[in-house]
Amino acid sequence: MKLFDSHAHYYDERFSEETEGGADAILSALFSENVGWIVNVGTSNENAAECINQAAKYKNMYAAVGIHPSDCRHYSDVDYEIDRLRRILDDKEEKKIVALGEIGLDYHYEGTDKAKQMAFFERQLSLAEELDLPVIIHDREAHGDCFDTVCRHPNVRGVFHSYSGSAEMALELVKRGWYISFSGVLTFKNAHKVKEVAAILPEDRILIETDCPYLAPHPHRGEMNHSGLMSFTLAELADIRCVSEEKMAEFTAKNAAKFFGITL
Ligand SMILES: [Zn+2]
Repeated sequence: MKLFDSHAHYYDERFSEETEGGADAILSALFSENVGWIVNVGTSNENAAECINQAAKYKNMYAAVGIHPSDCRHYSDVDYEIDRLRRILDDKEEKKIVALGEIGLDYHYEGTDKAKQMAFFERQLSLAEELDLPVIIHDREAHGDCFDTVCRHPNVRGVFHSYSGSAEMALELVKRGWYISFSGVLTFKNAHKVKEVAAILPEDRILIETDCPYLAPHPHRGEMNHSGLMSFTLAELADIRCVSEEKMAEFTAKNAAKFFGITL
């Protein structure tokens, strides 16, 4: 049984700070165990290169690059940064770039510049359409605006990562060809809404992820997360949907491969 981690951040400093041998030691071990495939997701024009370089080292590791809504606060010129991102996306096949992300809206922190986040989000959705790349959406406490924005780009398809919206919105997204991804949050006891969504979605639109080093599943909540801990999320999902873990692993991997255009 091999698992497909559709969303991870292995260039994060936490891996080198908290583990001997850093991300490389972890990744070599994971790929020899039950982790089959990983998409390493960037959050800025600055970490894109490291994200791509890591993916180049492992046969079944891929990259996504984009500007996260929380990272755009460091940028002042949208045109300039979108131009940089466009250059990063040159030769995307050779760089194993399989998606544009993570992009979106994050209204969690007070004093957020919503207009700036929206400008970066809109421009990157247009870029994804132009380059025919799927997108990875980060939606934190911005469900309505995220939904409305992706609906303004009907030719773009993507995934809402670590989904936290309503069941109604999930079904509307699925109807429009979108995917929904579940992280370790699914295993938290109080995650009733997320569990409800996981129960009702069609099988062919579900992905799983770690978002590591963040969002470690129960009973490792709060620890440094890695793809090996995704088995807890998989077990929870299988339990909610009353299917075997093997079956769940098989179709989430198949869905991810189709979504990212990867041959397993
Ligand atoms: Zn992430």
